[in-house]
Amino acid sequence: MSDLRDLYQELILDHTKKPRNFRKIEGVGSKADGHNPLCGDKITVFLMIDKGIVSDISFHGSGCAISTASASMMTESLKGKTIAEAKTLFRHFHKMLTGNSEGQVDSESLGKLVVFTGVKEFPVRVKCATLAWHTMNAALEHQEEPVSTE
Ligand code: ZN
Repeated sequence: MSDLRDLYQELILDHTKKPRNFRKIEGVGSKADGHNPLCGDKITVFLMIDKGIVSDISFHGSGCAISTASASMMTESLKGKTIAEAKTLFRHFHKMLTGNSEGQVDSESLGKLVVFTGVKEFPVRVKCATLAWHTMNAALEHQEEPVSTE
């Protein structure tokens, strides 16, 4: 398993050094702020939904290696997904890291995101890895609120 672990670390490092979709989306869309006081991670997730599909997603802010890599890989995973798929993926990811519910982790739908499974061994880092996802979910909730034209 050590080869696999190296591969995981490489992937996480790559995303930490070169975060994908690290930018702000101005104008229309939805955003939410996330803060993990335990570590000091602060991020904002930007979402653009078009006909129920995540047409664009990005993040901005500052955080540790794990929170940055997690946000980066999340944006890659969610672009082009429907709102329902995004919510399902959030549930699977959360379950993989907290592991307190019965049943198998759906590694097939998680894809590359399974690299974060090792974070479970470091409980203080779990919040770092899930921060972007909680923030994304909050941005989705805003999106689902009825739009006011007032
Ligand atoms: Zn952190």
